[in-house]
Amino acid sequence: MEPERELKLRLSGRTLAFPGGAPWCLVCGRRPFGLRTAAFKDPDYASRRTEGANLVLQRIHPLLAWANRARLVTFKVEAPVCFRHYWRGRGAEVAGLGLFALALGGFLWLGLKGRLPDHPGEMGSLLKGFLVVIVTVPGFLLWRWRRKSPLLPCDARRETPEELILVYPGRAPRPRSPGPIPAPGPDRDRQV
Ligand SMILES: [Zn+2]
Repeated sequence: MEPERELKLRLSGRTLAFPGGAPWCLVCGRRPFGLRTAAFKDPDYASRRTEGANLVLQRIHPLLAWANRARLVTFKVEAPVCFRHYWRGRGAEVAGLGLFALALGGFLWLGLKGRLPDHPGEMGSLLKGFLVVIVTVPGFLLWRWRRKSPLLPCDARRETPEELILVYPGRAPRPRSPGPIPAPGPDRDRQV
């Protein structure tokens, strides 16, 4: 595997440490705007880490060995991402929340104006049904969408608990903005 596809980072808990200190967007390499949680799966790492203990657990009950391995397969990291990648995919989230707030506001307004029916009737259950739909449909779509598009375009491997290797389909992102690691070429953007 070509080395430029890989990005090696230190990992402590969920926090990533970048070589040189300053983080960069893990999608494109720009200056980070915020942190987003990214989940990865590394079954090989889980098998390797639990090999010894699972020899013992396997003899007690296979389910214990399975659970011991399963808790290490998925892990989460706080990935720094730039403004664009921070908000990418959050449009649906914001729209869903906005719709919900709008619906709630509408109901409050109707309630204040005394237009909501006082007794359970056809109109009341229709409105309630409408509210349920508004809450559940965007939630369901969001869940579907999340499953389809992961935040980072890479796979992750771990050799030790403190070492994370991100493997990208193409070149791994390198810092683009001025930082402790000077980019190749004239460093004319460097201003303090
Ligand atoms: Zn980015």
